[in-house]
Amino acid sequence: MVCNGCGVCEPVCEYKAITIVGDPNTPERRKAVINEGLCMGCGTCVAACPSGALEQKGFKNNQILAQIDAALVGGGK
Ligand code: SF4
Ligand code: SF4
Repeated sequence: MVCNGCGVCEPVCEYKAITIVGDPNTPERRKAVINEGLCMGCGTCVAACPSGALEQKGFKNNQILAQIDAALVGGGK
């Protein structure tokens, strides 16, 4: 399962660490980006994600979240 940009995770993060961004070239493709500097590793977004995208990325701590960010944003480039 991958992030489909549904946006469910964005409002549940009380630390405002999640932003949903669109690909400039394909605006219909949107994905979640986690700001590792703001993320407190609470795990709320993992529970909220209906597609399991965050859980599957091996959520554990901020270091792993940095990898999530890279995977969600930079994947395929
Ligand atoms: S784990 Fe990080 S990004 Fe997810 S809800 Fe908690 S603070 Fe926000
Ligand atoms: S990480 Fe999950 S909840 Fe957040 S936008 Fe992607 S699919 Fe939706």
